[in-house]
Amino acid sequence: MKIGCPREIKPQEFRVGLTPAAAGEAILRGHDVVIETGAGLGSGFEDADYSAVGAKIVGTAKDVFDQAELVIKVKEPQAVERKMLRAGQLLFTYLHLAPDRAQTEDLLASGVTSIAYETVTDARGGLPLLAPMSEVAGRLAPQVGSWALQKANGGRGVLMGGVPGVRPANVVIIGGGVVGAAAARVAVGMGANVTVMDRSVPRLSYLDDVFMGKLTTQYANAATTAELIQTADMVIGAVLVPGAAAPKLVTRAQLSTMPPGAVLVDVAIDQGGCFETSKATTHQDPIYEVDGVVHYCVANMPGAVARTSTQALGNATQPFLLALADKGWRQAVADDPHLRAGLSTHEGKLTSQPVGEALGINA
Ligand code: NAD
Repeated sequence: MKIGCPREIKPQEFRVGLTPAAAGEAILRGHDVVIETGAGLGSGFEDADYSAVGAKIVGTAKDVFDQAELVIKVKEPQAVERKMLRAGQLLFTYLHLAPDRAQTEDLLASGVTSIAYETVTDARGGLPLLAPMSEVAGRLAPQVGSWALQKANGGRGVLMGGVPGVRPANVVIIGGGVVGAAAARVAVGMGANVTVMDRSVPRLSYLDDVFMGKLTTQYANAATTAELIQTADMVIGAVLVPGAAAPKLVTRAQLSTMPPGAVLVDVAIDQGGCFETSKATTHQDPIYEVDGVVHYCVANMPGAVARTSTQALGNATQPFLLALADKGWRQAVADDPHLRAGLSTHEGKLTSQPVGEALGINA
């Protein structure tokens, strides 16, 4: 099969859908790969890295879309890209169609067969193509939060690990799922005093087991949150209620109970944020202050570490990509119900029930 990978054109997107390593794997199995020139640069991959594994470099996105039977990307196709899709072609990328009627209608009009990364499932009930980005955002959260804690950035000037004779930072993580566990791992590694809160007791038991006393777990409720934030140097918001906006767990009134210069890192900002005072920010201007508390609310955190994110995403997509290329999409989704869960549109028909319900389109 001919696999094509264009350069991402959504603003501030530096990842790429195909790493040279994944391109090489596909080529070893007898597939052809075409890459738009410069597609990998944002993630530190040169055209030469792709040529070295046997991929063909082409000059424009149009060349990729014209030639490819399977287009692999990162972000949902932008309007100009959607015009280049066609029936009989397979699109494999993040789509997030439910809140995006214009994109859904364009994909249906194009006739393309699309498979959305974010709805592919795994045997444990997880989302294997979302999890790597949650891992990245989670591990990044204490890193950016510790930067924000520095005096010059408006923070209260507390070092994560403290020093002998001086206490480390108190870090409270609300939500102990993929993001929360990854954040805990880094915050513990930096030497902070870490508390993870969750509403799931089995999840708290799991964290208690794997961290073996290196962090404290607390059942999440309003009273405990109110108490813990009073002594927190950093609060990381990492909750998810599937299919719903994030619940607001810290109110504006509560900010004045926090130490001046404390930091809120709202990773759940892509679901509306879990602090009342959160509003989405960008990598260019990531922080702002409300009532003396520094907020970091970047909605696409993995973009800050595009090379790591691209590699993590590429590792997760590769088995599915190879199955699609080896077998064709029909056989691949027939063989794998988890990949089938990603099927979103085919020849003008919506094949995703939740998207249909969200947009009032028959699926
Ligand atoms: P997850 O489902 O693995 O974990 C969410 C956890 O939140 C679960 O353990 C759940 O029990 C817990 N929870 C739900 N309601 C709670 C409450 N009221 N109090 C305490 N805990 C509660 O989800 P995840 O993959 O860890 O993602 C977490 C959030 O991070 C999501 O909103 C996701 O969209 C977001 N995210 C953001 C970025 C970014 O760049 N900003 C990147 C990746 C993920």
